[in-house]
Amino acid sequence: MQFLLNEEQILIQNTARRLAGDRIAPLAERLDRGEGREEFLANLKFLAENGFMALNVAADYGGAEAGAVAFALAIEEVGRACASTGVTMSVTNMVAEVIQAVGSEEQRAAYLPKIAGGIYPAAAFCLTESGAGSDPSSMRTKAVRDGNHYVLNGSKLYITSAEYAGIFVVWAVTDPDAPRGKGISCFLVERDTPGLVIGKAEKKMGQTGSVTNEVHFEDCRIPATQMMGEENDGFRIAVGELAGGRIGIAALALGISRAAMDAAKSYVKERKQFGKAIADMQGIQWMIADRETELEAARLLILQAAHLKDAGKPFAREASMAKLFSSEAAQRATYTALQLHGGAGYIREYPLERYARDARITTIYEGTSEIQRLIIAREVLKEI
Ligand SMILES: Cc1cc2nc3c(=O)[nH]c(=O)nc-3n(C[C@H](O)[C@H](O)[C@H](O)COP(=O)(O)OP(=O)(O)OC[C@H]3O[C@@H](n4cnc5c(N)ncnc54)[C@H](O)[C@@H]3O)c2cc1C
Repeated sequence: MQFLLNEEQILIQNTARRLAGDRIAPLAERLDRGEGREEFLANLKFLAENGFMALNVAADYGGAEAGAVAFALAIEEVGRACASTGVTMSVTNMVAEVIQAVGSEEQRAAYLPKIAGGIYPAAAFCLTESGAGSDPSSMRTKAVRDGNHYVLNGSKLYITSAEYAGIFVVWAVTDPDAPRGKGISCFLVERDTPGLVIGKAEKKMGQTGSVTNEVHFEDCRIPATQMMGEENDGFRIAVGELAGGRIGIAALALGISRAAMDAAKSYVKERKQFGKAIADMQGIQWMIADRETELEAARLLILQAAHLKDAGKPFAREASMAKLFSSEAAQRATYTALQLHGGAGYIREYPLERYARDARITTIYEGTSEIQRLIIAREVLKEI
């Protein structure tokens, strides 16, 4: 296995680190307080203009064509600066990859340049419903054929970036009589389509700069040409594309962990108690050693999954392992970093409590830790 980064990957990592440090990190605290929406949208456009919204999309469609490893490295850097921006970038890249993977030539040409170029501030992935979270095959949103159109009815829940997304990839039931997961299709719905209604924005524990909305379809009529892939093959598409997204969330979790642990390492060297820096106490050193070892393991799992994806090999098991491990490690890293700050960690003047809140969702969205374990177990048991 070859984990040395190539020149292009190093360039993207360095560029992401610089842009994130200059433009994205300074806004993170205000975004967390519910301010700075205009600057946030400007940053999304800026990220697109620098190639970060379609990192793994072909240059023919305006993408950076940089691959999954570069994507993971960039998400880690942006997530380290601001988790809300990182998740927006991750989901937008995932939508772009779905369109590239299963869209027709016309669909790719129509939508990918708009995502890649920042004409759309973001893109949305509409799978979850109130009764269909871990089990999306039980979704109720319907798409009924009517001549050259489909008419969509139903509601999606917890949709990242819905408020400002330009394009929505939407899953809906096209054959209600088919066995579980066999009657679902995938559609592209443009933002201004009549009947696409953006519902309430959720009030969240963390990643508050990224908006999460209900999305309703009320007799939403779209041309039949907006279907992606084959009719009734949508569930397979969703499962396949979520694996790529999990590399992004794993990298995001690693980025948040790094921000927290970097702050903690500086703090313990400065903070003195009992006449010496607390970094000189072995108990503190062990906490740091354990967390840093976990972050290194998370990094290797992420790189492995991304590397397999770039090589065109199966990577679902590795992506689930990376997401499971990195997101769970992020809970420990952000809480350890907060603990190492003592009372200051709990005070809003420091970013530690924000890191802990931002990290919390990473074990839940794009498949909970329990669902990652189901996928991993299924894959490893299949091998016997
Ligand atoms: C901030 C945020 C952003 C999101 N963004 C998006 C988005 O952009 N697009 C989108 O489509 N969705 C999005 N989601 C939805 C997210 O992916 C789901 O919330 C998640 O998959 C879990 O589904 P659920 O909330 O219905 O929980 P449930 O499925 O009801 O799970 C409840 C609990 O039961 C456990 N559980 C369920 N089934 C099993 C099982 N078989 N074995 C063991 N344990 C099990 C779960 O792990 C969990 O602990 C987002 C959610 C949030 C909170």
